[in-house]
Amino acid sequence: MEDCLFCKIAAGDMDTDFVYQDEQLVVFEDINPQAPVHLLIVPKKHISDLNNLKSADNDLIGHVYQIAKKMAAEHDISESGYRLVSNCGDDGGQSVYHIHFHLLGGRKLQWPPG
Ligand code: AMP
Ligand code: ZN
Repeated sequence: MEDCLFCKIAAGDMDTDFVYQDEQLVVFEDINPQAPVHLLIVPKKHISDLNNLKSADNDLIGHVYQIAKKMAAEHDISESGYRLVSNCGDDGGQSVYHIHFHLLGGRKLQWPPG
């Protein structure tokens, strides 16, 4: 997708340092971290938001969760706990319309969220 920030990042066009990458997704640090660990897990495939997820994407989303677990372990937050969240739409607080998953941890997270 032209003019999609996360497509450009995932393609390596933005000089972003990847914490992890494979054929399906990239992981990098959020530019405006909300917790000591704040990673973005971003599928390479352009899917604008959760509303546009297809059943054909089920394996991809399963892979996102497996990588989230791996990233949590590598950042020493498996035991302390963490949150994996995907914001959808205006009320959900989505600002980048390329589906992504925030992995947050390293501090006590509040619930309910603001
Ligand atoms: P959301 O608001 O849920 O759509 O999440 C988008 C996230 O992308 C926000 O937490 C931003 O801080 C983050 N972000 C925006 N631009 C960049 C960038 N160039 N590099 C890393 N993170 C970014
Ligand atoms: Zn995109």
